[in-house]
Amino acid sequence: MSDPTVPDPTITTPPVPADTTPSDGPLGTALGQLDGAIRRLGYDPGMHAMLAAPRREIHVAIPLRRDDGTTELFHGYRVQHNISRGPGKGGLRYHPAVDIDEVRALAMWMTWKCAVVELPYGGAKGGVAIDPRGYTSSELERVTRRYTSEIMPMIGPEHDIMAPDIGTDERTMAWVMDTYSVNRGHTIPAVVTGKPLEVGGSLGRATATSRGVVHATRAALHEAGHELHDVRVAVQGFGKVGGPAATMYADAGARVEAVSDENGAIYRPGGLDMPRLREYVAASGTVVGFDGGDPITNDELLTLDVDVLVPAAVEHVLTADNAADVKARWVVEGANGPTTGEADALLTERGVTVVPDILANAGGVVVSYFEWVQAQQAYWWTEAEIEQKLAERMAHAYAEVSEMARREHVSLRDGALLLSVRRVADAHRIRGLYP
Ligand code: GLU
Repeated sequence: MSDPTVPDPTITTPPVPADTTPSDGPLGTALGQLDGAIRRLGYDPGMHAMLAAPRREIHVAIPLRRDDGTTELFHGYRVQHNISRGPGKGGLRYHPAVDIDEVRALAMWMTWKCAVVELPYGGAKGGVAIDPRGYTSSELERVTRRYTSEIMPMIGPEHDIMAPDIGTDERTMAWVMDTYSVNRGHTIPAVVTGKPLEVGGSLGRATATSRGVVHATRAALHEAGHELHDVRVAVQGFGKVGGPAATMYADAGARVEAVSDENGAIYRPGGLDMPRLREYVAASGTVVGFDGGDPITNDELLTLDVDVLVPAAVEHVLTADNAADVKARWVVEGANGPTTGEADALLTERGVTVVPDILANAGGVVVSYFEWVQAQQAYWWTEAEIEQKLAERMAHAYAEVSEMARREHVSLRDGALLLSVRRVADAHRIRGLYP
């Protein structure tokens, strides 16, 4: 590994362009994080500019013929932030707030995430500005197939591999895989991950992000002389990540005292009855109204007197407005980008251990990688093999990040960024510039 304190002499280029200057929103946060890592690593403005700018991006218009015969237009994006360590990798998000800057930020985080856990991938992300809850399954299928056709030249098992994210699921991935495969003339399961088992999905993928979050929590607690059965946990977001994670925490002996979804939160000091809560949510679609806890607001959940806070929903929920009131000693980022730069500084200053998103929620993309490897070899692993390999990867990555943070006297987030930015910069340096 190169010495991070020695500026790289091989690249000298013009000053960093204006669009690498942090702005508001997730992209501002992501660029601010990169900025900090670049300064510490001593890289020059040329390397900074290369790592700040997406390598490729596409903006597509997606007309939908609705079931009632009317037409609606949506905007979709795919951004490959970096492809120097391998194909682009990252989810596809369906959410009304999706825009190009959010997708750029999420793609950049995928680059660092894949590098932290040493996957042979770059980082990418896609999104469509649509609220999937307002559309029927057949409408969503048409949106997905049209989006896939529009971005077709950019994706593929060796180019850019999609996976589920907010608002998409394994069914969406099956449509992407089918559209891509039909157009190529043969079945190509490795173009997406997080697909159904019946068409080449991997055992353990659906719960991998949550499992990884729990592994990361266990490692952080252990380092401070604690275990999961000692702690009280609050989970913000009861979706694909937070829902299974809450159950896994409870199964490991933690007291899960509060959970929330976009409708509200519930709180029970001493711990919620998770099996009963899951049954309630399966029937009602929300945690709100569960009689085994008191109703509280989402904001109240974030500042509850618990040991571990797990933001597992969307970006920027911990801000300068509430970070000083967070009482948890550990914040484990199940979501991508839940903490603004200001909030991160406040939490670190107050001695809160933040296990950063690019490490804490990397379990999903780790098992995506396992799924891609299995699909390429057409040879399938057992669930036990997958879970063991995931646990090893998470433990190893946590140890490396923690070691870097200790050595450099920085937070776990900065440790993770130093490690990953350096790995990506090394790939650039070793490959050299063409022509
Ligand atoms: N959407 C997930 C993430 O943000 C998974 C990405 C993947 O598996 O490619 O990490």
